Amino acid sequence: MSYFNNWRCTDCGKEFALDEVRYLCPDCAQGYAPGVPLPGVLEAVFDYPALREAWQAQPDPRLFSVLDPGFYPTLPVGDTPFFRPQRLAANLNLPELYIKNDSLNPSGSFKDRASELVVADAIRLGINEIVCASTGNAASSLACLCAAAGKKAVIFAPAKAPAAKLAQIRIHGADLHSVAGTYDAAFAAALEYSASHACLNRNTAYNPLTIEGKKSAGLEIFLQLGAVPDWIVVPVGDGVILAGIHKAFVDLLRAGLSDKLPRLLAVQAASSDAVTSYWESGVYRDAANPMSIADSISVKTPSNARWAVRALKETRGQAIRVSDNQILKAQQELARQAGIFAEPSSAAALAGLQSAIEQSWIAPGDRAVLLITGHGLKDINAVR
Ligand SMILES: [Zn+2]
Repeated sequence: MSYFNNWRCTDCGKEFALDEVRYLCPDCAQGYAPGVPLPGVLEAVFDYPALREAWQAQPDPRLFSVLDPGFYPTLPVGDTPFFRPQRLAANLNLPELYIKNDSLNPSGSFKDRASELVVADAIRLGINEIVCASTGNAASSLACLCAAAGKKAVIFAPAKAPAAKLAQIRIHGADLHSVAGTYDAAFAAALEYSASHACLNRNTAYNPLTIEGKKSAGLEIFLQLGAVPDWIVVPVGDGVILAGIHKAFVDLLRAGLSDKLPRLLAVQAASSDAVTSYWESGVYRDAANPMSIADSISVKTPSNARWAVRALKETRGQAIRVSDNQILKAQQELARQAGIFAEPSSAAALAGLQSAIEQSWIAPGDRAVLLITGHGLKDINAVR
């Protein structure tokens, strides 16, 4: 069973039943065209009193799922390690540092959490095809989960996506369409495809299940720490992981299972800083030329920019830019001091944490969680 009640538009507040709407709020999305942050992104609303009771009897992140867990594919996703990296913590003078290592998901990335829920929806609805735009990780993840469930994945990815991610997409048997240009061009191509085919669209934020799926990492952190941390450090491209982590703690608060939100630190590559500049100036503008070595967070128009900035406001968070040099240095430190080989976008989180400590945003006594979102073997050119 599920404790889901209804969808609610994060812009106008209008409410919808589960199958009344699949993607954006139809009112707010009128006139939407690719190239601007998505209007009318939906959030799930639950029967919070019943959820609280069920959680207190037996805590389980799946209690907060939109869908009955009986629809989930059988490939295990999530429940990833959470631990204190002793040497790294000592070197940062941050004794209460924790790592949530989501690179140990089946396809090697955090994105499996979103793919799992969208594939579960395809199983529930009896739909056989799912389309997705991706810089690489969401695509290799969807290909992986679709293979486990016997569904067809159709992928639109930039031609210059890292070779290992393209290999993952192929080995899992997905249909791969290379798109000239960036992630933003792939996003538009996937929207066009799903408008004319009987399939589900897994574009991030466009399909609200992607945010709801990513939420499970936040719920696991709450369970594994046994408390709400002071800070969670999140690498940010399109803003959907940030929104997912935020939603987890909002749901826990609404259910009366916690009494505060963690502060969120959004870390962006300097050339892909649309969320950071929106947060600082209050005025949205695209990233001019997103060309970071951290391909997973290289985005011109972050689809979930509005929610990302709201999450930073509500959690008294911060946003920060890091250079490619800082990212590469942090990638090596993470590998040599914590034993974790993370892809550049995940190493960006450590670079951002280091800057936040230097600026005294994060104090030595704070409990901080570093979210590692993708495995380093997915992109070895960065290391070369
Ligand atoms: Zn709306």
